[in-house]
Amino acid sequence: MKILVTVKRVVDFNVKIRVKADGTGVELANVKMSMNPFDEISVEEALRLKEAGKASEVVVVSIGPAKAEETLRTALAMGADRAILVETEDQVEPLAVAKIVKGVAEAEQPGLIIVGKQAIDDDSNQTGQMLSALLGWPQGTFASKVEIGDGKVNVTREVDGGLQTVELKLPAVVTTDLRLNEPRYASLPNIMKAKKKPLDKKSPADFGVDTRPRLKVLKTEEPSGRKAGIKVKSVAELVEKLKTEAGVL
Ligand code: AMP
Repeated sequence: MKILVTVKRVVDFNVKIRVKADGTGVELANVKMSMNPFDEISVEEALRLKEAGKASEVVVVSIGPAKAEETLRTALAMGADRAILVETEDQVEPLAVAKIVKGVAEAEQPGLIIVGKQAIDDDSNQTGQMLSALLGWPQGTFASKVEIGDGKVNVTREVDGGLQTVELKLPAVVTTDLRLNEPRYASLPNIMKAKKKPLDKKSPADFGVDTRPRLKVLKTEEPSGRKAGIKVKSVAELVEKLKTEAGVL
């Protein structure tokens, strides 16, 4: 079985985000970019399934600018076999991403597609769900455990009340949550080897997908800063202030 994994290039999660002066978005010039953390978890899970003999090939796909090749090379250095870059300079919204990945899936015929639960830049949490709907495949979202069986996959999901396990018929779409696994680091020899692994380049037009945005960003704002704290001398004073000043009691 082939596993297709989506990986997005996003601002590194350690970077302190700055909003552009005109409020149209966040500053991306000279900012460290990395693989979306949920996608690292997806790549790790696909590799573990391959190592356990449940998958034969791991193919990674990214939709983004030429520099997204670096992100794909990182996935190849972790151990993925092959990469596909669907190159575009547009900011591609989840629906267009899902349509493109559907096209890739039709060409590649994977048994399982692993998608991150959300991209930490747009926080949409939409792509996996839209992809499953477009393909007409079952979906298991927010996976904290993935077990492949005979023609099926059991996905344990993190839900409000605890954990829920669902059985999906393959092919299926699974979206990954934080506690699924801890992604490996790519070793230096593997980073060198990854430079020679196959990477195909495509364009959204190859899949007949129009990537022009459907949404218009009206405003981007930084969260208001935290107010300085104060020290109180006694519990009684704390309760008094919570009642009279903070108004939370
Ligand atoms: P979102 O729906 O934007 O929060 O993204 C959820 C997941 O969809 C991400 O974790 C990625 O796995 C995938 N995804 C979104 N955008 C892209 C993209 N441009 N290229 C590859 N994968 C993407």
